[in-house]
Amino acid sequence: SILSNKKQVKSTCSYCGVGCGVVLTDHGKGKLTLEGDKSHPSSKGMLCSKGMNLHYTVMDTSDRLLYPTMRYNRDMPLQRVSWDQALDRTAAVFKAIIKKYGPDAVGFYVSGQCSTEEYYVINKLIKGFIGSNNIDTNSRLCMSSAVVGYKLTLGEDSVPVCYDDIELADTFLVTGANPAWAHPIIWRRVEAHKQANPHIKIIVVDPRRTQTASQADLHLQITPGTDVTLTNAIGRALIENDWIDTDFIVSHADGFEAYKDQVMQRSISEAAEICGISSDEIYLAARYIHEAKGFMSMWTMGVNQSVIGVNKNLSLIDLHLITGKIGEEGNGPFSLTGQPNAMGGREVGGLANMLPAHRDLLNPAHREEVQAFWGGTKISDKPGFTATEMFEALADGRMKAIWIVCTNPMVSLPNINAVEKGLQNAKYVVVQDISNRSDTVKYADVVLPAASWAEKNSVFTNSERRITFLPKLINAPGEAKDDTQIIVEFAQKMGFEKAFDYQNTAEVYAEHCRSTVGTNIDISGLSYEVLQQKRSVQWPYPQEMAIQDPEYIGTKRLFTDNQFYTANRRAKIHAVPDQNQSEALSKEFPLILTTGRIRDQWHTMTKTGKVNKLNQHISQPFIEIHPKDAAERGITENQIVEVKTIRGEARIKAKITTDIKQGVCFMPMHFGKIQEKTFGRTNNLTNTLVDPRSKEPDFKYSAVQVLPY
Ligand code: SF4
Repeated sequence: SILSNKKQVKSTCSYCGVGCGVVLTDHGKGKLTLEGDKSHPSSKGMLCSKGMNLHYTVMDTSDRLLYPTMRYNRDMPLQRVSWDQALDRTAAVFKAIIKKYGPDAVGFYVSGQCSTEEYYVINKLIKGFIGSNNIDTNSRLCMSSAVVGYKLTLGEDSVPVCYDDIELADTFLVTGANPAWAHPIIWRRVEAHKQANPHIKIIVVDPRRTQTASQADLHLQITPGTDVTLTNAIGRALIENDWIDTDFIVSHADGFEAYKDQVMQRSISEAAEICGISSDEIYLAARYIHEAKGFMSMWTMGVNQSVIGVNKNLSLIDLHLITGKIGEEGNGPFSLTGQPNAMGGREVGGLANMLPAHRDLLNPAHREEVQAFWGGTKISDKPGFTATEMFEALADGRMKAIWIVCTNPMVSLPNINAVEKGLQNAKYVVVQDISNRSDTVKYADVVLPAASWAEKNSVFTNSERRITFLPKLINAPGEAKDDTQIIVEFAQKMGFEKAFDYQNTAEVYAEHCRSTVGTNIDISGLSYEVLQQKRSVQWPYPQEMAIQDPEYIGTKRLFTDNQFYTANRRAKIHAVPDQNQSEALSKEFPLILTTGRIRDQWHTMTKTGKVNKLNQHISQPFIEIHPKDAAERGITENQIVEVKTIRGEARIKAKITTDIKQGVCFMPMHFGKIQEKTFGRTNNLTNTLVDPRSKEPDFKYSAVQVLPY
């Protein structure tokens, strides 16, 4: 068992969705060391700068929340209390609010960094026992457009490929992503593959010349928001050249004729002009896709975080369906998950519109099934508030209390000034976190200290559907507790003792596995024990397969038989209109602001920001601006500029570079307030538009002005 040696465990990096394996050793007296786990199939021993330094985030406890704190009004400081005092009062307040305003007046805002067990108990509590669907997660800001895209095309939220497909592909279309910085270990595999096989083609679609784009054979530097115009035009070029797979379409997909009509409406030259690239580049991209034996698309926030994020996903997956390049080795769409357990959160249905095991909240049969399984209250048919809606509901009084777990919305949500209004107006705010560095802590009525990675047993699912067990190695500092335990104790205080009578997280996980029986994501063959024995497996992992084959390690690749999860088992090709619906540019706000990550920081820096080695790369926020846009405004390199929108402003250093397309600016998403007059909180500026179907915000397109300060 990997737990047998208590001083050393195999675990998984808790930053991005790549989910690299680590070996963590406890040398006593607070000293830990960490190395890549060569036996982990996702990463084969490799780690990026963030993963290599992950152990420092638990070794340095200087910022850790050590005991519960509470206050009776916001003018008072938070004061130390016992766990019982904090949870008793919170249960009393929740009960009183629910009695007076109904269950939809409370909600949980959680995180793609929560474990599967944490997600499971919170989801069960709010939907099955409190009687509201008000649980949403920062994964809403991340993968929800991809989820809808997969469901509408493949019939299920299901990543068809695995990482081993990388070495079997020969054309990569990387769009709206900078994996060289944000998913480094996946990118190392692409780089190594290209080095060994120089014929391999990499196409990168990005308004910035990122490190990933600088390695591309073809960099399509499009104007933000024109992604669908581009992918539709590539589709047209594939059709014009008869580079489509008619046999696959006839046998396994619906919707081609409508798709063809749609993409033929715009000429390639017209599309090229809209995107700000050349027709030749579009034809070349189509050729690279056609000539590939293995064609993988990879995408992340540049596609998902958009007011037309679902359409961008549909038009991209269309390219696989019209060429039949899916379900075979080295072929398929591959959404790169941002967070380490965003996929696990979806598995348990931990979002406002979902139920466990990818069941659909709007399906009455699914609601009844889950209600019978949990034995709780009737599950409401009203979808809960999504991430941005929750803070709007707090601001206008529809919601009164919010419980925030493992996320820092005061830096990460769009339009922070509106988020702040929501938190200020809330009657009761609970913040459950590991660190006092979270900007959201200061808005809390109760702060609950949580255990961190390596301080609790938990399970994560990474980008390739790979489920890994993360064992506890060290004790949490002070009185900090396992998040699952905190929620279970609270549920008991709310009067739901019987349904939350878990002795440990293994029992929670076992219940989650049972809830998946008979679904497309059946993992009924799994348990903590199996995960410890096998190290990791890929879902689905049904019990009958596990019994039949002792060596079974799950399902590497989906749709190898071209049978999709739709009702008629055929994939659906979508005709997608290409108009962007983002905020309009104006004379006052003529530039497009796009946002993203930098190499060595993670989210709002509560963890990476305290690791010295990671601050050496880029330590200050900045705005990238094109030389022509800078010259027009009299902006010089490193000058402090003011970036303005109708929502708010930021003041930061200008970085003048031809790496960004003219008319576009870029700011990293991570930073909060820096000094009194200099602050780079990007989400002061971003807008609150969301995709109508995925409810994912339009982070990558805000109308701004940039002027010398
Ligand atoms: Fe961690 Fe992601 Fe880096 Fe792997 S690639 S070490 S999971 S941050």
